[in-house]
Formats: sequence, C-alpha cells, structure tokens
Amino acid sequence: MRLTFLGAARMVTGSSYLLEVGQDKILIDCGMFQGSKAISNLNRRPFAYDPSSITSVLLSHAHIDHSGLLPKLCKEGFKGPIYATQVTAELCKIMLPDSAHIQEFDAEIANRKGLRAGKAPVEPIYTLDDAYACLMQFKTASYTAEMVLSPNITVRFQDAGHILGSSVIDVYVTEQGQTTKLLFSGDLGQPDQPIIQDPTYVDEADYIITESTYGNRKHQHYDDKEERFAQVINDTVKRGGNIIIPSFAVGRTQTVLYYIHKLRMAGIIPDIKVVIDSPLAISATDIFMHNTQDFDNETKQLLLNEAENPLNWPKLTFTKTADESKALNHLEEPAVIISASGMADAGRILHHLKHNLWRPESSIIFVGYQAEGSLGRRLIEGAKRVKIMGEEISVRAQVYNLEGFSAHADQDQLLDWLGHFKIKPMGVFLVHGEFDMSAPFAQLIESTLGYPTYIPRYGDAVTINGKEWSVIESDIIVEPAVKELFAYLQQVEIDFQVYRKRLEQIAVTDPSKIPELLDRFVKLYAPIKKTLNDL
Ligand SMILES: [Zn+2]
Ligand SMILES: [Zn+2]
Repeated sequence: MRLTFLGAARMVTGSSYLLEVGQDKILIDCGMFQGSKAISNLNRRPFAYDPSSITSVLLSHAHIDHSGLLPKLCKEGFKGPIYATQVTAELCKIMLPDSAHIQEFDAEIANRKGLRAGKAPVEPIYTLDDAYACLMQFKTASYTAEMVLSPNITVRFQDAGHILGSSVIDVYVTEQGQTTKLLFSGDLGQPDQPIIQDPTYVDEADYIITESTYGNRKHQHYDDKEERFAQVINDTVKRGGNIIIPSFAVGRTQTVLYYIHKLRMAGIIPDIKVVIDSPLAISATDIFMHNTQDFDNETKQLLLNEAENPLNWPKLTFTKTADESKALNHLEEPAVIISASGMADAGRILHHLKHNLWRPESSIIFVGYQAEGSLGRRLIEGAKRVKIMGEEISVRAQVYNLEGFSAHADQDQLLDWLGHFKIKPMGVFLVHGEFDMSAPFAQLIESTLGYPTYIPRYGDAVTINGKEWSVIESDIIVEPAVKELFAYLQQVEIDFQVYRKRLEQIAVTDPSKIPELLDRFVKLYAPIKKTLNDL
C-alpha cells in the first residue's frame, strides 16, 4: 500500500491523505488550506489525483481544514461515499454551504477589483450548488462499528474528543494475507473538556498518523482556567467594559457557553447579558442540542437535573441579522459577545473588535488556536495598533489568551495518548503541525517512547509492506507561486538536521541539555516563519 500526504504536512491546515491499496483509493479528509496567501493558493491547485478515481472518503470531523475541499472534489468527478459520523454530517450541512458562500463572496470581491484592472475573472473554488450536491454523498459511520469498505479494507470510527462528532479512524488493510492497521488521529482533544467525551485511547496500531498542533507546547493555566476566566469577566464588568470572545463557531463557542453557564449558576460571575453573534454558531449550537447522545455523562446529567440548559438560558441572546449585530455596538451595560471567526481575520467579530479594542475598560479573550499571520496572533503577541477594515485602531483593551480552552491536546496530552499503545508501532507520521511544533515533538517521541517518527513533506508518499516502510519523496510539481514557500520549508529542514545530529551526540553525554537546544531551534525558526507569512 501507499500513503501520500497531500496537506497538513508541516503546517496545520489542508488535512488530506491518500491511501492506495490495489484498486482501492481512499482519501482521509479533504481539507482546505488556510492562512497566508501562498498557503491558501494551494486550494486552487489541481488535485494530485483524478477525483473520479477515488473510491471513498473517510472524514474525521467537520472543521473546514478537514472537510473544506470536499465540494471541489465532488464537483471534479468524485462519485463515491463520504463516510462520517452523524454529527459530522449534520455539521457539514451548515459548514460547507457557509464555506461556499465565502468562496463566492471572495471571488466576487476579487473580480470587482480585478476586472477593472483588466485581469481575467476569478472563479469561486466552489459554489453553493456544489456544496449542496456534495452533501448528498455523505454516509453515516457509527462510533465503534466496523465497516467493510472492500474485501481488503475495514474501518472503524471512534471518538476523538475534539469537537462533537470528531473521530480517530482505524483502517485495517489486508494485503497478501497479512493485515496492517493504520490509525489516523484526526484532531485530538484535551481530556476533561465539557460537553464532549474524552479522546479514545487506542492500544494497538502498526502505523499512526497523528496531529501535532501543540507538539512543542504545554497549555498554560490548564488547571485554573475557570478561575481566570471568571476573574477577567468580573474585572471587566467592574470597569464597565465588554468581554469580546473571538471563537470558532463549532466546538469552542459551545465550550465557552458551558463555562459561562456553570460560573453564573454558581454565583461566581453576575448574570450578565451574553450574546452569540454568529449565524453559524447559532446553527451549530442547535445541532449540539439535537445530538445529546454523544455528550459526556456529566453534561447528560446536568441536562437532566438542572433547571437551565448550559447552551440556552434566559439572558443568552442569539443575533441572526446584521442589523441586530450592529445594534450591539450601542449596548448600555457590559456584555459578553461571542462571535466568529475564531482567529479574528474575518466575520462579525471584526466589528466588535473595532468598537472595543480602543476601550481600556473592555477585554478580548482568545480561546483557540491563532495561526501565524492572523489578527488574533498579532493581538496575543501584544500589537499596540492594528488595522481593521482599513481603519487604524489603537489597542487599549486587555487582551488574554486562555490556552486551557483549546480543542487540541498539548504536548503532555499527546504523549500520554501515544504512550497507551501496548506494542511499539512501526512508524509514527506527524502531521497537522507547524514545523517548530512537530520537529521537537518527533525528537521527544523517539527519545521517550522509542517509536520511529517521520514528519512528511507536502506530497511525500510512504510505501508500507507489513513491518517495512520507506519514504518516496514528493514528485508533485510546485508552481512558482508556492515555490518560495517550499524553498523556505526545505531550508528549515536542513537547519533542523544539523540540530538533530548535535542533539543525538549531546543526548549520550548530557541529556539535560536537550530542552535548551530545542528551544534554540524554535528561536532560529522564528524569522523564517515570519517570512513565510508574508509570502
Ligand atoms: Zn479540528
Ligand atoms: Zn484541524
């Protein structure tokens, strides 16, 4: 069999892996690339395979960086089934049309300027019709049930504890009478998150393809996140400001609601006005409430015993129209406003930031991953002035980054999950992480768990034959627009190889020096990363 890495390779977005076994061609995720211009341009590249030759798709969860290119895949000839859990399919029903709407809107804007400048018209990557057509191809995969895809391939979805409906996917491949198990982690959540179940521990796999978003980070304030959250809210209310929470519509918003509900029920924060200002978040919250069967026991109990619903209570308001959203700029009393996008680079959140960033009495709380180059990343890094919708805004509000709310496992949690395998896997492939997160993490996995670890490049393929595997380097032709990007990534790799050699020598004589050296690598990588974002 052959496994090709077609996205989320040395970056976080664009998850997609092609598994070829004889006549079977299975795609695991078909996500959209998000971030700098060079990275999002990858969405416009032709697929590295003929979409009509794909036999089926396994979708780990609904987030756009995993599902976002499915409408393009179907539009270009894929006719087979897309297997996903019931909740993932329901969430895609709102997220893919929403994404299509953004594609159409972006193309329209580009054309308005471009046509005047004499440029050729830009087509949207896909349209609303493409998104609806693609939704017809979804088929339900139930948690823990084995599904036979073909005589040689059986798969099983299990809860990944990342967002409702998210899955780790087991793929059993039989070739020449021997069965090999591949395990795709999808995105892995933190244990003890509210509403959703904990990530499923798996105790055997021959090969693991795992995310590494926070491979080189330990979430701060994990233990006291509720107290910190309450304190920020209370302090802001005292100052008479608003609490603005940029949040991903699906998953984070519901987690934040849960905590606000819990804190107000306990009388730790006042019963202030809370507004969800994101049509997508409103629909997603609805889907959550219709799928309580997948909730964790604690939340199920809470729904049975408590008078008020943690996702809907009297002083929680949902704003649907743009006018209702604008009216929030003139609120007289302090309020919590939760809006998208989570990285503050688009959407209604921009209006709320524009009206609150300059006010020293207001607070901005980030609760999720902030990609390089996003407005959110600049704010948490302490920018004093930012440009929002063409306007210079001075940053005088308090800005907080509460990492404990993250939907992704951190280094300790990833290592713990990886440590549950009873027999050492033959190989671990680290995906879904920027290189300064995955490279030190690969080192750590090898030194603590002894699993052979590889960080694939975009387009790399791995041939697997039972216990044997080898890497075939990418032969995907990269056009000039993204060539520079790959040249940089390559340079980083050369630098890291040098470090790795030194690390191996040092590990023998003085292992205590390793963290310091890894740290130095991350610093070395920083300017390269900055350049990457400007491409
Ligand atoms: Zn995700
Ligand atoms: Zn992801």
